[in-house]
Amino acid sequence: MSNVIVIGGGAAGMMASYAAGLCGHSVTLYEKNEKLGKKIYITGKGRCNFTNAVPVDEFLKHVVSNEKFLYSALYTLDSDGVIAFMEQWGTPTKVERGNRAFPVSDHASDITKALKSGMDAYGVNVVLNTGVKEIITKEGRACGVILETGKKDFADAVILATGGLSYPTTGSTGDGLRFAKALNLKVTETYPALVPFETKEQDILSLQGLALKNVSVKVFDEKKTYFEDFGEMLFTHFGVSGPLVLSASSKVTALLSKKPLILSIDLKPALSYDKLDEKLKRMISEHPKKKVGFVLCDMLPKKLAEVLEARLGIFEEKNLSDLTREERQSIVDGLKAFSLTLTKTRGFKEAIITQGGISVKEINPSTMEAKNVHGLYVCGEVLDVDAFTGGFNLQIAFSTGYLAGISIN
Ligand SMILES: Cc1cc2nc3c(=O)[nH]c(=O)nc-3n(C[C@H](O)[C@H](O)[C@H](O)COP(=O)(O)OP(=O)(O)OC[C@H]3O[C@@H](n4cnc5c(N)ncnc54)[C@H](O)[C@@H]3O)c2cc1C
Repeated sequence: MSNVIVIGGGAAGMMASYAAGLCGHSVTLYEKNEKLGKKIYITGKGRCNFTNAVPVDEFLKHVVSNEKFLYSALYTLDSDGVIAFMEQWGTPTKVERGNRAFPVSDHASDITKALKSGMDAYGVNVVLNTGVKEIITKEGRACGVILETGKKDFADAVILATGGLSYPTTGSTGDGLRFAKALNLKVTETYPALVPFETKEQDILSLQGLALKNVSVKVFDEKKTYFEDFGEMLFTHFGVSGPLVLSASSKVTALLSKKPLILSIDLKPALSYDKLDEKLKRMISEHPKKKVGFVLCDMLPKKLAEVLEARLGIFEEKNLSDLTREERQSIVDGLKAFSLTLTKTRGFKEAIITQGGISVKEINPSTMEAKNVHGLYVCGEVLDVDAFTGGFNLQIAFSTGYLAGISIN
């Protein structure tokens, strides 16, 4: 039996402390907040989409960074395992559209409750309101921590589960990244991901609150397309957000920190250029005396039609029957490629996940132990791993936490 210290009481730290307790170790968890799982409370809009119920090979397709590193962790505790865990510790679960799993109660707090029940059953000692300042090592081995109070606590193993940099108000302020650097572990560049974008164009600010369903979005520069997908997006008071935009951010956040990119929205993805042109021609012959705004209002939400009409300003006063072929073509272009210039993301304050973190090259993927600091185990968002939305990120925190906990000997 070993004495184990866990730093951080989020999803990863709680699961790690449960797993270490399950293996018979004596576990103390330090959490700097006044309660466990502060971030869990705000996940899934307060409902906590705690995993995605798909087999591991399918799961891995939704991982953005370093999916191979996660093989062992995910095969050791997969989504079925996490669902069974929640049920075992008193939280009934349900699976919704897109295989997203939630507590039946729709209360994120029930996920934290289940984790706490598991931890209690194995005697995990939880110490709240207590931040860790430093990890103590001796001869290349982690052997304890120094608390913010200055007090030292020694142990046989230390599990680092301090999270990343996103939503710092929940406690994830990057402490673990600093601890890692102090121990000479490589930390890759960090970026906010699953995060909304600000745009250069001001005309879309009037569209604030407008959600578009069934649109196709592409993000590109002069060289390459970095993201393309179909789904839902949202206009906001600063730019764009919504599921498609958040996913896009995971693919372009690093690049966008260096230069602006173009986001182009196909407002009519079900119609090819030619089909859309034919539809326009038909409308023109049926309503020759109407203006361009009439056509746009027929095809788009009114506010968006107004913005596009203003962008196509030159035709505002023309009757449909007076449009030239080129002018008609530019309307089709506007509908197929409504373009915005992305200037930056909304930053870590509004990011669901951190991209980058402790390099996976520093960590043994079969145990989560740091290769060069024995007795130090690392799990959760502090690692350089991230995935799309849908319950994947919490599952990664649970799987890596569990593997760390059971790997201590
Ligand atoms: C708004 C929002 C919604 C989300 N929704 C979902 C969702 O529905 N599904 C999903 O899969 N993922 C979701 N995520 C992502 C998910 O919450 C994270 O991936 C996950 O919580 C990471 O867990 P973690 O334990 O690694 O880190 P965290 O949850 O950040 O936990 C780290 C803990 O360590 C503590 N800590 C930090 N430093 C110290 C220190 N020095 N000493 C002591 N304690 C310390 C912190 O206070 C914190 O409690 C969401 C994220 C956000 C921000």
